[in-house]
Amino acid sequence: MKKSKNALVILAGGQGKRFNNKLPKQFNEINGENLIDFFLNRIDINIFDTIAIVTKKSYQKKTKNLKIKYPFLNFLNVEAGKNRQLSSLNALKKLNTFKPDNVLIHDAARPFSSNKLVTKIIRALNKNQSAIPYISSPDKKIISKKEFNKPIKLIQTPQGFKFNLIYNAHLNTKIVNAKDDSVLIPIENLNFIKGEKLNIKITYPEDFNYFKLFVRPVYKSGIGYDIHQIDTKTKKGLKLCGVKINFNKLVGHSDADVGLHAICDSIFGALSMKDIGYYFSNKDPKWKNKNSEFFLKFARDKLKENSFYISNLDINFIAEKPNISKYRKEMILKLSLLLKIPKNIISIKATTNEKIGFIGDGLGIAAESIVQITDEKLY
Ligand code: ZN
Repeated sequence: MKKSKNALVILAGGQGKRFNNKLPKQFNEINGENLIDFFLNRIDINIFDTIAIVTKKSYQKKTKNLKIKYPFLNFLNVEAGKNRQLSSLNALKKLNTFKPDNVLIHDAARPFSSNKLVTKIIRALNKNQSAIPYISSPDKKIISKKEFNKPIKLIQTPQGFKFNLIYNAHLNTKIVNAKDDSVLIPIENLNFIKGEKLNIKITYPEDFNYFKLFVRPVYKSGIGYDIHQIDTKTKKGLKLCGVKINFNKLVGHSDADVGLHAICDSIFGALSMKDIGYYFSNKDPKWKNKNSEFFLKFARDKLKENSFYISNLDINFIAEKPNISKYRKEMILKLSLLLKIPKNIISIKATTNEKIGFIGDGLGIAAESIVQITDEKLY
């Protein structure tokens, strides 16, 4: 068997009594990643050649996809012991076949340890027998008068050891039910390194809120532009953003709502889809005189299907006439109802073309739309 250089043990055998949940917390998923995935997906896995995941037998199937994900690794499923110390020992016994130089022992409940910390521990093991991360707590604990005002040192994982050191410590210790591996080694022989404040332990259900600090929302934006000719023979029938306006109507295959068409295209753009003409061809008799609200609802459904929310919608009309500002409020209300979004994220603006070109001659109306969408649930 090939000798291993760096091995990683992830202890995921706990049931989490403080978690009042049937599923152990380490298997709870955030955006499709459980706590083990979350940690492994954010570190440079190539540092390790062997990974041992310690779980209760009934949860081993939950870690099976890791083997598929990291096929180049020696991947070991280890059965959890009666307590953390025995779980750790079970993993080390299995790893002993690979004779690794270094081993990092990590609690699955600390998914936020960074790649920086992991590499720092590995580097420290080049010169030291161990590398134990800690942070100093600003809280003080009074143990004795002498210790008064001494900052508390909080020990974290992953803890790095020369394999033989920790394996022998486990085999020879008189300690039972140790809360972490470093306590099996005399404190004066340990090498402490600076840990990370954000490397917190997920203990209570509300601790899952910390994921919000790490999982940033995705923002995307899209642009839309449309223009239609004014039917100068008519006197009424104009519709902009679903609002009827007493003015000459626009020429088009559908109801020619230039505002809604621009908005649809901006949403399609933000979702990396094709343009409105692709979904609603102006050659298809099905869309003849169609109410454009139908197209907007289609775009709204696409947002929903992709779990995106509009965070801002900015529409600009370019027209010599009519005076659009008079209808601004009504349009915002209409769009808010159609798209099911708050009114305060919609802006309707208008400008003339300063009597230049065919818009300036009053022959057409154009609309531009810019939309920003996010996968963060906003409303
Ligand atoms: Zn159009």
